[in-house]
Amino acid sequence: MSHTLPIEVQLDQTECCGSGLCASIAPTAFRLDTSGVAVVLDTAATTDRDVLVRAAKNCPTLCITLTDNGSEIDLF
Ligand code: SF4
Repeated sequence: MSHTLPIEVQLDQTECCGSGLCASIAPTAFRLDTSGVAVVLDTAATTDRDVLVRAAKNCPTLCITLTDNGSEIDLF
């Protein structure tokens, strides 16, 4: 089946510790807002899947969820 939809990126800000790792690994997908909590950028939709997976895997609180065509991507 061909890949038709961009990967959906969700972030639970209540769990974010503000490490900034996601933004350093995937700066086109995440940034820290002025309160030091990560936000998902619109350009996350065009960010390479492998980069998104690496960012999600390295999140110390695992608060990033990636969904591909309706199925959550298994990070580990
Ligand atoms: S890597 Fe995780 S905990 Fe760190 S800023 Fe990003 S979302 Fe927050």
